[in-house]
Amino acid sequence: MITMTTTPTNNTFPKIAVIGAGLSGITVARSLENDAEVTIFEKSRGVGGRMATRRNGPHAFDHGAQYFTIRSQEFKAFIQPLIESGIIAPWEAQHAQYDGSQIVDTDRWKTGESRYVGVPGMNSVVKHLSNGITILRNTRITSLTKEEKWILKDEQDQRHGEFDWVISTIPAPQAKLLLPPTASYYADIAAVSMRSCFAVMLGFADPPPITHQVIHIKNADISWIALNSHKPGRANTHTVVIHSSEEYAEAHSNADHDKISKHLCSEVQRITGIALDSAIHTAVHLWRYANNATREPLPVFIDYDLQLASCGDWCCGGRVEGAFTSSYRIVQEINRVL
Ligand SMILES: Cc1cc2nc3c(=O)[nH]c(=O)nc-3n(C[C@H](O)[C@H](O)[C@H](O)COP(=O)(O)OP(=O)(O)OC[C@H]3O[C@@H](n4cnc5c(N)ncnc54)[C@H](O)[C@@H]3O)c2cc1C
Repeated sequence: MITMTTTPTNNTFPKIAVIGAGLSGITVARSLENDAEVTIFEKSRGVGGRMATRRNGPHAFDHGAQYFTIRSQEFKAFIQPLIESGIIAPWEAQHAQYDGSQIVDTDRWKTGESRYVGVPGMNSVVKHLSNGITILRNTRITSLTKEEKWILKDEQDQRHGEFDWVISTIPAPQAKLLLPPTASYYADIAAVSMRSCFAVMLGFADPPPITHQVIHIKNADISWIALNSHKPGRANTHTVVIHSSEEYAEAHSNADHDKISKHLCSEVQRITGIALDSAIHTAVHLWRYANNATREPLPVFIDYDLQLASCGDWCCGGRVEGAFTSSYRIVQEINRVL
């Protein structure tokens, strides 16, 4: 049986459906909350998208975004209350940069801009920002239909509506499958490609023999090693997160996860000398749409006739701040016509 959900109506406010509860979706919802009735649809149980934290017993892992920078005045103003309330804190760590198996730099993180993380997990940022926002979780939107207004359908065949506007904040390759090809900017988003990344999560009973808490690696199958538990406000447990290179993930996306973790851990040892075989918990996650293939900023994607818009980190060069900036740009434009 097909049922229809309707959200409560305030006749003076336009109704807006936002798809995705990552930082982009939450930024849109928070920024429009005084001018519109916003409902977010999120396919997962939790919010945060790629600003994710996974727990296993005493261990917690930020297996997506590792840290972020705050460069624009707009992002700073948006995020400042969370810094003041301790939901976001700077992360100061000893850093090493490798090229192949050579250390080429250990100074980069000693000076310059601060790197920030969510506390106690990366997902705390969006969790905190989502307070008071209407979010339908476990609701994957599978189709959008414009009748008089927008009707959304989820994978249980449930219809949601009616909405004046739909704003999609999901990664471009997923938006390509969902948005109507009649959208004025459809060809532009269909051309965007994103790259994969494997995250290996290791939990330890005792401190692992990490030399630097943060290691970037170029020209190898691994790109990043972090002593995750060193971030501020983490529980007193020991966790390491390894990220593969995009090239490795693209080439091995269908491989067995046990083989992936063994290979990436042995690469850590070969390159840095760090042995991680005392881990008592190992898990692997494949992020299919981790990062943009290019860093060029894209135009603002709004079809005013259809009242359909799209944003996401991929519109502004990827990254956490790019997610905010892309949503900020969309809201500025849409606010003019609401
Ligand atoms: C491994 C990895 C490492 C990273 N490292 C960093 C870093 O160190 N620094 C940095 O700044 N950035 C980093 N990033 C990038 C950063 O995480 C992203 O730029 C940012 O989180 C993107 O936010 P977003 O809201 O645009 O997209 P997302 O966080 O992807 O949010 C989209 C949301 O839409 C939901 N969704 C998708 N399809 C549907 C559907 N059909 N119906 C309903 N919901 C749907 C998803 O579940 C998700 O919650 C990293 C990302 C990854 C994966």
